[in-house]
Amino acid sequence: MRNSKKTLLVVGGGFAGMTIITQTYKQFNIVLLDQKSYFEFVPSVFNAFIHPESIFDLTLQFKQSKFGVIFIQGRLTHIEENIAYYEGGKIEFDYCAITIGSNYTYPIKSAIPKLSDRFIELKKTQQKIIDSQTILIIGGGTVGVELACEIKASYKQKTVALITRGKILSTMPKSASDYTKKRMLDLGVEIQENYKGPSLDSNFDLVYNCKGNTYDSVRLNDNFEMFDPKKQILVDDFQRTRTNQNVYCAGDICITSQNETKTAFSAEMQGEIIAYNLKHPNKQIKSYWIPNTYIISLGGWKAVFVFESFSFGGFLPYLMKLFIEVVVVNDFRGIIGFNTLHQIMNYFVYVMLYIYMILQLLFAIAPLGSKIKQDQRVELKRIQQEIEEFKKQ
Ligand SMILES: Cc1cc2nc3c(=O)[nH]c(=O)nc-3n(C[C@H](O)[C@H](O)[C@H](O)COP(=O)(O)OP(=O)(O)OC[C@H]3O[C@@H](n4cnc5c(N)ncnc54)[C@H](O)[C@@H]3O)c2cc1C
Repeated sequence: MRNSKKTLLVVGGGFAGMTIITQTYKQFNIVLLDQKSYFEFVPSVFNAFIHPESIFDLTLQFKQSKFGVIFIQGRLTHIEENIAYYEGGKIEFDYCAITIGSNYTYPIKSAIPKLSDRFIELKKTQQKIIDSQTILIIGGGTVGVELACEIKASYKQKTVALITRGKILSTMPKSASDYTKKRMLDLGVEIQENYKGPSLDSNFDLVYNCKGNTYDSVRLNDNFEMFDPKKQILVDDFQRTRTNQNVYCAGDICITSQNETKTAFSAEMQGEIIAYNLKHPNKQIKSYWIPNTYIISLGGWKAVFVFESFSFGGFLPYLMKLFIEVVVVNDFRGIIGFNTLHQIMNYFVYVMLYIYMILQLLFAIAPLGSKIKQDQRVELKRIQQEIEEFKKQ
């Protein structure tokens, strides 16, 4: 290679991969392998369903990277020892980070290689939505909810229905799911919870399946310990794969002992751990607790912010998501100042976590305190009664 620096191969330039790159590009020769030629800010993709041209604000082309990265476009097929094989060649590395994410129904997540083609794909998606009078969304998780709200908020005259086997946002705090449900009903989305009936696909002009992430079945060869049945990669507390200490893994594709909710934020946090451990091989740190935090867009200028069991909805979460989008995309583009802003933003989440934990502790202690006082009062009363009875004798 060009110098004495070691080669770090990052497979997948998503949230985890780009975080690793922005934090290690000075210490390593970085090779980025991705099947696509661009990063996409997936959490805002539904905006591009309505306004396809906005995709250019949500993406960056790897070839224009300011981090001195060697970009190879290709799809990883397998890894053996310190060689990664992709369709079209192989790459030798000292360290490797596998951050290939997950798949989602087309065209929500796309593996289309060129950004210009992704734009065309989104234009077609927009046209399909315009041409459809009745739209069915299957799945009441964050993705289904966001899509239903985005379409209905933009096309009020269309019928948008959402069916789900459980409740709306069943894994989120009740306050978040209540707020979301009310917002959906206000917009006019028809909701059917606990739906166990037959397929309704043929009754609608357009159907979107939003039932969750899937993972490619053939990703790596057998020397990697896999987690069946989803085929995610099992990692240790240092984000290393179990069978090759020079190969790390982060983001949607990995399974950690915390088994955290898969979000862009958790992918970034795991990317940070990997970056730190690569830079400090003798002082590696364990992955820390990742709080469950999410901002769900609800169409128009509304969203709901979730932080562990706390949530609030309205215009402010919408603004927060917009701010996060601008900071993250510009950081990954290498625009000066945005990396610091991005780091401050992520640390702020941890400050919130500490405040949240202290409050939890106080709320746990406060009822305990009042219980102790109550017990003391009962005891005092009993002693007073005993004294009264003693006096009577
Ligand atoms: C519609 C939608 C909305 C979402 N909204 C939110 C949200 O509001 N907040 C939030 O925190 N999270 C949200 N998420 C989840 C979030 O997008 C993911 O958790 C996050 O993208 C995972 O990051 P990652 O780095 O693991 O993978 P990704 O961001 O998916 O990146 C993976 C990269 O690897 C590449 N790749 C894949 N396979 C291969 C291969 N074999 N060889 C080479 N390259 C490969 C891909 O092209 C891609 O560039 C949303 C997800 C969806 C689908």
